[in-house]
Amino acid sequence: MTTIGRAGRLPVSLGTLTMLISVLAAAGVAGVGAAPQAGREAGQTGRAGGQNLDNVEVHVLPVQGNVYMLVGDGGGNVTIQVGPDGVLLVDTSFAQLSNKILAEIRKLSDKPIRYIINTHVHPDHVGGNENLAKIGNTIAGGNVGGDAPPGATIIAHENVLNRMSAPTGTQAPFPVGAWPTDTYFTKQKEVYFNNEAVIVVHQPAAHTDGDSIVFFRRSDVVSAGDVFITTSYPIIDQQRGGTINGIIKSLNYLLDLAIPKEKQEGGTYIIPGHGRLCDEADLLEYRDMVTIIRDRIEDLVKKGRTLEQVRAARPTLDYDGRYGATSGFWTTDMFIDAVYKDLSARK
Ligand SMILES: [Zn+2]
Repeated sequence: MTTIGRAGRLPVSLGTLTMLISVLAAAGVAGVGAAPQAGREAGQTGRAGGQNLDNVEVHVLPVQGNVYMLVGDGGGNVTIQVGPDGVLLVDTSFAQLSNKILAEIRKLSDKPIRYIINTHVHPDHVGGNENLAKIGNTIAGGNVGGDAPPGATIIAHENVLNRMSAPTGTQAPFPVGAWPTDTYFTKQKEVYFNNEAVIVVHQPAAHTDGDSIVFFRRSDVVSAGDVFITTSYPIIDQQRGGTINGIIKSLNYLLDLAIPKEKQEGGTYIIPGHGRLCDEADLLEYRDMVTIIRDRIEDLVKKGRTLEQVRAARPTLDYDGRYGATSGFWTTDMFIDAVYKDLSARK
């Protein structure tokens, strides 16, 4: 299914839903079976399908220090860091939004895009890689000679490249120009850019098997990717190596990094993969919610309950008003199923 762009004038919830359906369908995530329901709802508004993100608006929100958050209701959040060395992006949303994203970047800086860091492989986060990388350029010097390859450097965990590319002779899911050009397989990778240490830290087996969070140390901002989203229960892409315990581990890691301002809002800011800007208190509440639900399901798994019994026990009930969904791409049942499957396999 490739219905992306109907979000324009829909109520936010439905727009987000429609977006998520297309993202997961495009990514081939398991359990997109609930999609027809949402598709039907969206269809009732009379909006045509197809790759039309024309009505989607993107907005820049200054976060702190060198860092800005680009919020678009069509794809994942994009983080922008600007300064004397140029522009660094974390994620690139959908390809169809590249012109709008570039227009917003140009309001902040006329310098070249030097780096793109991808938090993971999903198309609502890497879709604009090719468009935005090719208008940028790598900084030459040091290990990079005068014949530096054209385009910005794209940094990601090596599992992102493995999943975007394909063995010779088979069709790769993404064009070569979108692939990471600088991967890492260690715990973390460091870049010094715009007078700031930028630390890319791998989050093993969380939302996928190739997640990175990006910590802007001087600005005191973390770009979390989809290990932390405020729009639904955590999405576990089990086909691509995601696990519930990896997500909780990652949320705990983010909590370790985040330091709140004394008795005030603010301090370290966290940009989620989807949803609104957060501080430590927001992250703490989300981590508690995910941990409590995991513990409830784990307890039922240990008692030998079937999936049907676990669903019937409604382990998410007190949080459904805030994070639950009965239709669309990532329903409450799908979340419970994923956690159940994950924890029973581990038992
Ligand atoms: Zn994702």
